[in-house]
Amino acid sequence: MGKDKSWTSPPREEAQRAVRLKQINRQQMLLRPVEVEKLVDPGHPVRAIWELVGRLNLKPFYDEIESVEGVAGRPVWDPQLLISLWIYAYKDGVSSAREISRLCEYHPAYQWLTGLEVVNYHSLADFRIRHKEALDQLFMGVLGVLSHEGLITLQRVMHDGTKVKACASDKSFHRKATLQDHLRLAREQVEQMGDPESEELSRRVAKARQRALREKQQRLGEALKALEQIEASRSKSSDKTKLRVSTTDPEARVMLHAKGAYGPGYNVQISTDAQAKIIVGVGVTQAPTDAAELEPAVDRVEANLDQRPKQMVVDAGFTNQATMEAMSEKQVDLIGALPKRNGVAANRLQQRGVSPEFYLQAFEYDASADCYRCPAGRVLLYETQERQGASLRRRYRARASDCRVCAFQAQCCPGTKRGRSLVRSEQTPELAAFEAKMGTPEAQAIYKQRAGVAEFPNAWIKDKIGLRQFRLRGLVKVTLETLWACLTYNICQWIRLCWKPQRLAQA
Ligand code: SF4
Repeated sequence: MGKDKSWTSPPREEAQRAVRLKQINRQQMLLRPVEVEKLVDPGHPVRAIWELVGRLNLKPFYDEIESVEGVAGRPVWDPQLLISLWIYAYKDGVSSAREISRLCEYHPAYQWLTGLEVVNYHSLADFRIRHKEALDQLFMGVLGVLSHEGLITLQRVMHDGTKVKACASDKSFHRKATLQDHLRLAREQVEQMGDPESEELSRRVAKARQRALREKQQRLGEALKALEQIEASRSKSSDKTKLRVSTTDPEARVMLHAKGAYGPGYNVQISTDAQAKIIVGVGVTQAPTDAAELEPAVDRVEANLDQRPKQMVVDAGFTNQATMEAMSEKQVDLIGALPKRNGVAANRLQQRGVSPEFYLQAFEYDASADCYRCPAGRVLLYETQERQGASLRRRYRARASDCRVCAFQAQCCPGTKRGRSLVRSEQTPELAAFEAKMGTPEAQAIYKQRAGVAEFPNAWIKDKIGLRQFRLRGLVKVTLETLWACLTYNICQWIRLCWKPQRLAQA
C-alpha cells in the first residue's frame, strides 16, 4: 500500500508560489483605548443586577464598614459592587471567590462592574460570609420589589425540601471512641511540639505545623461536642455507640439524598409563591426528614413579607398530625399528599415469623368491651396507646398464660414469652378532615400544580447555580450560601419578568 504524502510535500508548482499570509506578531506592545461603558451591551443582565442592587437599601452593609473619613485605614470596596459581583457570578454558576477575582481580570461583564479594577478574593470571600443580617434584609428588600411588581400574592405557596451535600466526605465520620483517641493524640502532639523559635526547621514551617495541629485539635473538639449533642437528643434506650460525626464539618448530618444514597448533607427548605415562582422563604436545617419543617417555613415567609400565606401545598413528607394542628392554629389552608400508609405492620409481623392467617384481620374487635378476640377464642385486652404521625395507635395484648398453651402459638406469636399483641390505628379528627378535603377534585387540582412550582427553584439552584454540594462548612455558613443562591434566583426572575419586558417596551 503506497503512502499518501500530500500533507508533507506539496506539489512543486504550489511550493514555488509565494502566498501572502497575515503575520502574527507577539513581540509588539499595544495600548488600546477601552470604553468601559461599552464593554457590555445595553440589554446585558449585569446592568439589570447593578440597577436593582442600587435601588435596594444597603444601609445595613454600609453600617458595618469600619473604614471612615478622618480615621486611618484603607477604603473598602462598595457593597453594591461586591453584592453585584456575587449575584452575577452565582447566576453563571461561579461560586468561588478566587474564580471571580480571576474573571475580573478579563471578563467584560466583571470588568464593567469593577471599572477594570480587580477585586482580590479575600475581600470577596469575607464579604460572602460576614453580613448575615444585612443579607437577610437584602433578601427581604428584593421580595419587596417583586411584591410591588405584583409577582407575589401569598395566596398559594408551594413548599419543598431538598438535600444538599455537605463539604465533607463519608470517611470524615467517626464514632465517639475514635474521636477521643484522635483528640488525645492531637493534644499530645501539640504538647510535644516545643517552641517554634528553637526548631531546626524554618520558623515559618514550624509555625505553620503548630497552627495546623491546633486547628485539627479544635475540629476534633467541635466534633466531639456535636456528637454529645446528638447523644443528648436521642432516647435513653437507643444505641448511642453507633453514632458518628464528621471531623471536617461537625454540623453536617448523614441523610438520605436523591437516588437513595446516604451521605453527609443539610436539608434545604424552600417556599415558593405560586404566582410567579418567586422564593419567599428559605431555611437550612440538620433534620434528616421534612416532618417538622412546615411550621418554621410559614413563620419565615411571614417574617419576610409581614403576611402569612393563605395556603401551603406540600408533599407527603410534611403531612402529619403535628403539621395539621399547627396549620389549623395558624389558619393556613393545608393541601398535600395523604400521609404514607405504610405496610410496616404487615412487614414486622412477617419478620417476626407470624403466619398470614394470624394477621390483624383474623382478630375480631368487640367495640362494646374495647377488646379483640383471637382465632383461638381468647381475649386481647387494651394495653396502651401512642400517637404516631397522624394516627393514634392502640395496643391490645393476650395473656401470656393463654398463648403459652395455645396450639397456634408457633404461627401466631413465635419466640415471644409475652402474649400476642396487635396494634389498632385510628384516624385523628384532623386527619379525617384532611382526607375528606383531599378527596375533592379542587384539592387534587391544586396539588397537581405542586411539583411544577415547588421543584422548579430547587432544580434551578442545583443545575444553574451548581449548588449540589456546599463550598462552605457549618450551619450558619451553608445557610448564607443558600441565601445567596436564592437571592440570585429571585433577581433572575425579576430580570426575566420585569426588567427585560420593560426594556423591550421602551425600545
Ligand atoms: S397464640 Fe395467643 S393470641 Fe394467638 S391464637 Fe393462641 S391464644 Fe390466641
